[in-house]
Amino acid sequence: MNPSQCRSPHSTHHSARPAHSFAAALRRVRTVLGRTSPSAILAVVSFGCSMSTHATRPARLGQAVSSDALVAVLERPGPVVLEKIVAGDWVVERSGLINLGSEKARDAGLEDGGEPIHLYVYALHHPRLGTYIVDSGLEERFRAEGGNDRVGAILAAAMNTDALVVRTSTKEWLAKQRERVAGVFLTHMHFDHVLGLPDLPDDTPIYTGPGEARAKGLLHAFVSGTVDRMLEGKGPIREWRFQPDPAGRFDGVLDVFGDASVFALHVPGHSPGSTAFVVRTPDGPHLLAGDVSHTRWGWEHDVEPGTFSNDAAQSALTFHRLRAFAAAHPQLTVHLGHQALREPTRKPSAALAAQ
Ligand SMILES: [Zn+2]
Repeated sequence: MNPSQCRSPHSTHHSARPAHSFAAALRRVRTVLGRTSPSAILAVVSFGCSMSTHATRPARLGQAVSSDALVAVLERPGPVVLEKIVAGDWVVERSGLINLGSEKARDAGLEDGGEPIHLYVYALHHPRLGTYIVDSGLEERFRAEGGNDRVGAILAAAMNTDALVVRTSTKEWLAKQRERVAGVFLTHMHFDHVLGLPDLPDDTPIYTGPGEARAKGLLHAFVSGTVDRMLEGKGPIREWRFQPDPAGRFDGVLDVFGDASVFALHVPGHSPGSTAFVVRTPDGPHLLAGDVSHTRWGWEHDVEPGTFSNDAAQSALTFHRLRAFAAAHPQLTVHLGHQALREPTRKPSAALAAQ
């Protein structure tokens, strides 16, 4: 297949704001597909496309350890100051975020519809090693008149474009920092997690889980051009070198800096390289779950994500494992992918309000 067939047409004539889901996007994109060449559609449907064509290389950072090493230090206060930034607010389809076919969701009467979510960035301020961020937020260009011209036409058309509100752009946050960002840890490479990268200096190292960039997906053809443009000018994406966790809790655990302050957990399912983080702070340990669980309702009711996940069965397995880990270690403050657990969240529907 010609790699160019794995790119959607790029146009600057649209109001571009991000949508979360490729599955939800597909439903909205049908009318636009009518303008795409049949051979391109055939190629996409036959083979799938990579999430990104950007260069990758193994990460040098991170030492493979057992999750027992993580558990051993979890009770002790750590050195990293954690800052949580709400980059933006958005509304996406509930069926992507929560498995509405699950018994619990059916019993609760959950129906599909718009679910309000947030895009988060986490800053990890390490006293010796500087500041790293988890996920990338939203670049300032999303505030431009007419939208962000890095976003492809089909993707833009597929998005819930009117719903995104930029609260803090990555550029805006960076301007307030005393030191430059030493690196970006992407929980995964779904496009709503890479939209702030252009605001960072090009030589800022970017890390992600194994196989994220080359992950195949039927809808990636409509996304990869946008993801590649967000990465333009950046060095190769560094992929974590996970090893099997001897204690069997996760698919792999890395002591990121070698000082037991930050651990990366390989939690595949939502995407092949999905990565969660445990950050040890003076106030206790925090778990950044990434999109292993997007919503407060899903986490609290033990219901895994819905159609946004690449591998539904693996996503459910990983979700239950991470939830069991959090339950076994109640000192962890849990941060979900797109909603807060410890703040009152808006009730998105009558069904949820009735809980
Ligand atoms: Zn996401």
